[in-house]
Amino acid sequence: MDFDLTEDHLRLREMVRDFARSEIAPNAAAWDRDGTFPAGAVRRMGELGLMGVQIPEAYGGAGLDPISGAIVVEEIARADASSSVILSVNNSLVCNLILKHGSEEQKRRILPDLASGRKLGCYGLSEPGAGSDSANQKTRAVRDGSDYVLTGTKNFITTGSEADVAIVIATTDPALGKKGISAFVVPTDTPGFRPGKPEKKMGLHASPTTEIHLENCRVPAPDRIGEEGAGLKIALSTLDEGRIGIGAQAVGIAQASLDAAISYSKERTQFGSPIASFQSVQWMLADMATEIEAARLLVYRAAHAKTRGGRYTREAAMAKLFASETCRRATEKAVQIHGGYGYTRDYPVERYFRDGRITEIYEGTSQMQRLVIARGLLGE
Ligand SMILES: Cc1cc2nc3c(=O)[nH]c(=O)nc-3n(C[C@H](O)[C@H](O)[C@H](O)COP(=O)(O)OP(=O)(O)OC[C@H]3O[C@@H](n4cnc5c(N)ncnc54)[C@H](O)[C@@H]3O)c2cc1C
Repeated sequence: MDFDLTEDHLRLREMVRDFARSEIAPNAAAWDRDGTFPAGAVRRMGELGLMGVQIPEAYGGAGLDPISGAIVVEEIARADASSSVILSVNNSLVCNLILKHGSEEQKRRILPDLASGRKLGCYGLSEPGAGSDSANQKTRAVRDGSDYVLTGTKNFITTGSEADVAIVIATTDPALGKKGISAFVVPTDTPGFRPGKPEKKMGLHASPTTEIHLENCRVPAPDRIGEEGAGLKIALSTLDEGRIGIGAQAVGIAQASLDAAISYSKERTQFGSPIASFQSVQWMLADMATEIEAARLLVYRAAHAKTRGGRYTREAAMAKLFASETCRRATEKAVQIHGGYGYTRDYPVERYFRDGRITEIYEGTSQMQRLVIARGLLGE
C-alpha cells in the first residue's frame, strides 16, 4: 500500500493550486456577494484541461485518472466552492456519464466541446416530487416516430441557466416503474427547453441552481443514452462518480476553513497572547486537521476503487458522507475560532460555513448515504 501521490499527481495539484490561488480565490467573495456566474474562470478551467479531467484525449479531455479528478475538485473548492460544483457536475455527472454510457457517435459529437469548457453541461435528475426518491420520475418522454417528446419539470439543477447541454432523466414507460426510465442528452437551445429563475440559496451564490421546464421538447432518438429503460441505473451509477467529486469538494472547503483558522489564530491577540496559544483553540485546529486528513484519504480510496474497476458505490458513499460531515464540523469550528468576526462577511469563513452545508444534501443526503452503506453491509 502506498499513501503517496505520484509525481504526476503532485505536479497537477501544484498547477491547479497556483491557478486557483491567483485567478479564482481573489474573486470568490465578490462573486458570492453579487451572485456572479464565474464565466471567465470556467473558460480558463477549460483551457487548463480541468473540465474533462478523466475524458480521454481522443475526445478532447485531459485523459487523467480518478484521483486526479478528486485533486482538481479539492483545489478549486479550496478557492471557491461555487466554481468547484460547476466543474464537478460538468466532469462527473455529464462528461463521465457520456463517456461510460454514450455511443461512439455521441462521444465524438458531444464530448470535445464539454471537456474543453467551450460548452457546459448540467444534469437533470431531481424533480419536485423526486429528490431522494429519484425513481419517482414524472417527466415523460413519449416516442413519436424517430423522436421522443419530453414534457415535465426538473428542479435544483446546477448550471441549469448557463448550460449548453443537459442530461435529462425521464420516464419512457410508467408501467415499468424503475425499469421504464431513460436518459437523454438534450441541447438547451431545443425548442421547449426553458430554465426557470435561479433559486435564492444559503450559499453557492455564484453557482446558479434553477428549475428546467420541458414543454414538448423534441429529442431525436439517437440522443437517448443507453438502452430504453436503463436510465435510472445510468443516473444512479453516475452519482457514484459524482459523490467522489462532492467528497473532494467538501475536503477543499474544509481545508480552506482550516487554513483561515490557523492564520487568524496566530494574528488575533486576547489576554496579551495570540489565541493560538490557548489549548482549546489548538484542540479545535488539531481535530479539524485530523478529520480533514481522514476525509481526504476516504476520497482517494473511493477514487482508487474506481480506477481499479468494478463497483465502488459503498466507497463513494462513505467518502461523501464522512467528508461532508467533516466539512460541516470544520467550517463551524473555523467560525468559532474567528469569534464575532467569523460571523461577518469581512472574513471568508462565513462563506465557507454557508457553502459547505450543501455537501451534506446534494447528490444524495447523508441519510441516503447511510442507507446505501447499510444496504451493502446487510447484503441487500
Ligand atoms: C444547490 C443544489 C444543487 C443541486 N444540483 C442538482 C443537480 O445539478 N441535478 C439534480 O438532479 N439535482 C440537484 N440537486 C437536488 C439534490 O440532489 C436534492 O435536493 C437531494 O437529493 C435531496 O432531495 P430533496 O431536496 O427533494 O429532499 P427530500 O428527498 O425531500 O429529503 C428531505 C429529508 O428527508 C430525508 N429522507 C428522504 N427519504 C429518506 C429515507 N428513505 N430515509 C431516511 N431519510 C430520508 C432526507 O435525507 C432529508 O433529510 C441540487 C440541490 C441543491 C440544493
